[in-house]
Amino acid sequence: MLKFTEITLPEPLQRAAAALNYVSPTEVQELTIPWLLENDGDLITLAQTGTGKTAAFGFPVLSLTDIEKLAVQTLILCPTRELCIQINNDLASYSQFMPRIKTTAVYGGAPIFKQKDALKAGVHIVVGTPGRVYDMIRQGVLKIDHISMLILDEADEMLNMGFKEDLFNIMSHTPATKQTLLFSATMPQEVDKLAKSFMKNPHRIIAGNEHQGADNISHFFYRVQARDKYLALKRIADMSPKIYGIVFCRTRNETQEIADKLQHDGYNADALHGDLSQGQRELVMSRFRSKFVRLLVATDVAARGLDVDDLTHIINYHAPTDPDAYIHRSGRTGRAGKSGISITIIHSKEISALKAIEKRLGRDIVYSKIPGGREICERQLFNFIDTVERVEVDNAQIDSFLPAVYKKLSWMTREELIQRFVSVEFNRFLEYYKDIRELESTEARSPRDSREPRSKRGSEERYGSDKNNDEIKKQFTFKTFRLNLGYNVEMNKRELMRYINKLNVSRGIEIGQINIYDNYSLIDLDADYESKLLKAFNSNKYKGIQVEASVAAPAKKPKRNEQKSYRK
Ligand code: AMP
Repeated sequence: MLKFTEITLPEPLQRAAAALNYVSPTEVQELTIPWLLENDGDLITLAQTGTGKTAAFGFPVLSLTDIEKLAVQTLILCPTRELCIQINNDLASYSQFMPRIKTTAVYGGAPIFKQKDALKAGVHIVVGTPGRVYDMIRQGVLKIDHISMLILDEADEMLNMGFKEDLFNIMSHTPATKQTLLFSATMPQEVDKLAKSFMKNPHRIIAGNEHQGADNISHFFYRVQARDKYLALKRIADMSPKIYGIVFCRTRNETQEIADKLQHDGYNADALHGDLSQGQRELVMSRFRSKFVRLLVATDVAARGLDVDDLTHIINYHAPTDPDAYIHRSGRTGRAGKSGISITIIHSKEISALKAIEKRLGRDIVYSKIPGGREICERQLFNFIDTVERVEVDNAQIDSFLPAVYKKLSWMTREELIQRFVSVEFNRFLEYYKDIRELESTEARSPRDSREPRSKRGSEERYGSDKNNDEIKKQFTFKTFRLNLGYNVEMNKRELMRYINKLNVSRGIEIGQINIYDNYSLIDLDADYESKLLKAFNSNKYKGIQVEASVAAPAKKPKRNEQKSYRK
């Protein structure tokens, strides 16, 4: 399996993947991202939610967007307002180092005029629900007659929810030249028919197979020193502001101890174990079912009687020694068609237990880095801003108070006001996270297990090594190459990336900015490969033309994130 750094993605996207701790691509990403970067045909991907499919299309879409052209280039359609907001937020995280990319979400059940303003201001990517998108097209606010990509996410759900007519109407406004991508968890006849009517000879990707654990559950593990497990748990919880999950511990004592610590640190957590009376157990379970308690710390035995459908996370505080226990626990999330995340926090001595689980599960458990303070603050901030956007304003109740409030705040600009209200919510969080250290384990790993891991990768690579982290953090120095290939040979970004990949100079060569002109292109490439690249370019023909390449400008460093990192 590839490492994320080995996928040829523009540098700002590699940096975002590293910031999001995407170390290895998930299966759907490994299959979809390279294909999309190299092909402009239609694509059907069968993948469940929770398998990382947003990044599977999000990263290629962002790579292929022409920032200079402020017009809608990609339209992403999805069934619900929640998913729409989620995808839009995910795109914002992936493009955090591409400040000029503009995306917006349009969905029903929210005031239309603000969404219209966003569209009128100009965007590259629109994420929307079919009903509202079609409304906007009819009103002439959303123009999609020049899009290059149309993405139907959760196509089966969109049809289930009765969006068929809207979808047909929307499609009739798109150009024949676009690339259509269809993502679906299942392939019922209806979806197949839809694909047949709109797609040309689609390539098919199937992520996951029937022998694997439920496809809508993503399996991740984090590796820390044994003493840091609790801190890791807190960061995982902070990274998912809407977390609703069970933390599995080994003993009654440990269960109580972790729940007490979480409560003390301000989390809505409680313990469920065999030392509680029947009455106490029922009380805890009912508080958990009503979601007042968001994190239930439990032993396997005590959690048996609990049946809850919409858990977002299962967290294993240790790797269970019995693989079936793992499968049973993780099967508690991802129910009723929802996606779920199963996380295991391990220290170095638990690696062999994890391997046994992977073998039984029939799929890889993906290594993930413990989130740092900056990512957590960012995630919390997005969540807070979402809440503000969605809050129902009860004018009848507050109108009479507002004139005095407006008057009191009238001396502030809009920007100052936003800064202050974000700070009110955030100062405490930023304060806690500003000095935290990294939690990654640096202790020596146990000797390599004699069995090869399932995917035959070395243990060090699979289970996270410092070398791996260093690679992610490597600062690239780019050189700008000038090639005599421009619009004259119908060059575009995708074609240029594909061409560079085909040169086979190195796998996953770092690519920065690309600009295409009438007779030439300028492309930033990793300076380490300057002579190899020049040699490869200059001994190569493209569409019958002898390629002429030179280094166009002095070396320059990509801008790093200007914001201060909260991580030490
Ligand atoms: P999705 O299926 O796109 O909703 O993603 C499910 C979850 O997996 C999200 O929380 C993502 O942030 C996370 N995720 C996606 N890709 C990766 C990856 N390569 N490594 C770690 N986490 C990932």
